[in-house]
Amino acid sequence: MDFKGLWTVIKKKAIRLFKKVRKAIKRYIRKLVKHTKAGDYSILIYTLFAVLALVLFIVMFANIFSLGSKKKNDFKITTTEVATPPDATEDPQIAAQMQMKQQAQDIYNRNKDYLFLVDESHPLAEGYSFEHHTLNCGLDIDKRIYNDFSEMLNACNMAGYEYNIINAYIDEATQTTLYNDAVAHYVDQGLLEEEAQAQVGKSVDRPGCSEHETGLAIDLTDVEVLGEEDFKSTRGTDQWLMNNCHKYGFINRYPANKVSVTGVSDEQWQYRYVGREAAEFMVANNLSLEEFLQLVQ
Ligand SMILES: [Zn+2]
Repeated sequence: MDFKGLWTVIKKKAIRLFKKVRKAIKRYIRKLVKHTKAGDYSILIYTLFAVLALVLFIVMFANIFSLGSKKKNDFKITTTEVATPPDATEDPQIAAQMQMKQQAQDIYNRNKDYLFLVDESHPLAEGYSFEHHTLNCGLDIDKRIYNDFSEMLNACNMAGYEYNIINAYIDEATQTTLYNDAVAHYVDQGLLEEEAQAQVGKSVDRPGCSEHETGLAIDLTDVEVLGEEDFKSTRGTDQWLMNNCHKYGFINRYPANKVSVTGVSDEQWQYRYVGREAAEFMVANNLSLEEFLQLVQ
């Protein structure tokens, strides 16, 4: 059978079906009118229900259909909104960098209170103060970091390592004494005041330029470390702290691989609180605090 023949058959059958349906509807209406006139409303009521059900069904179907298409549109709009500018999408590397910068800025905005530099060129803001918490060892830290700090130390103990808290908050007066004593030591050895200051250099921060004055920096080592010269960074506790501190909002502040950025080579035991989100981000992207702050500028 060719296509034309098939089409003729279908058409004939459809017309016959249509006529049958029309006849049935007419017959139904006649029956409806007759019964209603005779005072029997049952058929009328059934009919009204059937029509109502049909209308409801059509409305529901139309809603589902329009919702589906709306969702599709919403999706289209969102993708256009979040898309990076056309020039950036051309280069996936630039796009990734921009995305990373944006992420860093968002993290910075949420954790600003902990994300600032304190060093020789960035003295602590005058009058900087915070609520203190005194640790069992007698040293103070910023009260806001106490929960994360103790959680980290507990986890360290649970992992089977013993730590020693060497330093935490140092007030400006103590820092001044530390600095002056260090300078005096070299002056005693015959150096001029300026030469002595240069010699002290970064091993002791100038007053107002030490992170320890923020209450956010803590010097921590394995319990077996006897002194600065004895520190090796390979002992269990030091390894554990370096590998896990970010989970509790801390970063190893002056790691060996960042000396060229931080300029500090002899404080591998210093940990600095930056907030969990920022710490995770810095570790994941191998950034020091300096590099992170550079990124969000
Ligand atoms: Zn320190």
